[in-house]
Amino acid sequence: MDDVSLKSDCAACSALCCVALAFDKSKLFAIDKAAGVACAHLGSGHGCTIHARLQSAGFQGCINYDCNGAGQRVTQVLFQGQSWQQNPALLAPMLAAFAGMRQVHERLLLLATAQNLPLSEAQKRRVYDLQAAMAAPEDWSAKDLAGFGQSETARAVQAFLKSLAPLLNRS
Ligand code: SF4
Repeated sequence: MDDVSLKSDCAACSALCCVALAFDKSKLFAIDKAAGVACAHLGSGHGCTIHARLQSAGFQGCINYDCNGAGQRVTQVLFQGQSWQQNPALLAPMLAAFAGMRQVHERLLLLATAQNLPLSEAQKRRVYDLQAAMAAPEDWSAKDLAGFGQSETARAVQAFLKSLAPLLNRS
């Protein structure tokens, strides 16, 4: 798990969240944006042109969002730092990979959080095994990521987290 960060690093990403995610005009977002369409405020080089004034411009939702490290993992590990802005053909596969990797990193974060519970030795080992199943970068193909939500690993993580409910009720 040491080589997988669960904290977003926008400088190492290609602004995948600024394209992939949809948002509705609301208190959190000043405009509507459809999923898969680059935000009107996204500049070249994957930078947000209003980054310094996101809050005053009505984009608190962007400040709140964290991909849990999925974006930079897709950009740097799966696509070797390539840019969809320079090669638009990469956009669709990068967005598809990001959708799957977000699910992976959400589960990794839940497992990391679970480590704060008073786990038994067997439960600690299970956390380690499940993290390992999702940590190795070379294990992820586009097909694996697309099917991750229905995978045995995803089901195993869900079942394990559910099994920890008694610990939550105790605390
Ligand atoms: S406002 Fe900036 S941070 Fe928010 S989605 Fe648009 S480009 Fe990205």
